[in-house]
Amino acid sequence: MGGFFHTICDYIAPKRCIGCGTMDTWMCSSCIQKNLAIQHIPFDQAVTQALHIHSLTTIGAYGNPFWRKAITQLKFQYTVEMAPLLSLLLRETLLRHTTILQHAAQHHRKICVLPLPAHPKRLRERGFNQTELIARSFHLPPHCVLYPHALQKIRYTHSQTHFDYTTRFTNIAGTIGINQNMVLQELRSSIIILIDDVITTGATIREAAQALSTVQPSEIHALAIARG
Ligand SMILES: [Zn+2]
Repeated sequence: MGGFFHTICDYIAPKRCIGCGTMDTWMCSSCIQKNLAIQHIPFDQAVTQALHIHSLTTIGAYGNPFWRKAITQLKFQYTVEMAPLLSLLLRETLLRHTTILQHAAQHHRKICVLPLPAHPKRLRERGFNQTELIARSFHLPPHCVLYPHALQKIRYTHSQTHFDYTTRFTNIAGTIGINQNMVLQELRSSIIILIDDVITTGATIREAAQALSTVQPSEIHALAIARG
């Protein structure tokens, strides 16, 4: 059934690389290699304390049409097959360009993977939360646990795209909370990895980290596809 369905979908909208148009893939390996611009920024003590975030890792620039297309294809064209591809890139980046996993193993810390939440209204419109799809496709090492609903969007916000830097911070304030139904104890002293699609001003990530500071994780890292 699934195979038949996929065949029909391929017939209606055949897969083509969003970079070069090569058939049968959404992102060919040569376009991925060409467009990768991994940035891993570990913050010093002062910045970490102010932002509640220990590092920020992205795989490309949102200004690069390749990554912009990859995200809009998933988010607005509902091509859910993009999620496992993007997830794989994030996982490889985490393994090869950061020491977060080794650090967690050395200090016997559990890693908790938390996607940035979508408001229920947005979920109804789109049918899925793209960051949750990406996080769910993450093939996690044994000491990593996915908490897809640990964070909740508690207030609806309009798309951030048209706001300037200051307005984005005001627009987002008080919008993310912790799901009180889950066992908060499970996040305590863990290393949290927040998953997002695009980080522009960092306002959303900061808001999530602020909400999480109450459960006292040992570290919070942000991992996203693109930086705006
Ligand atoms: Zn290509």
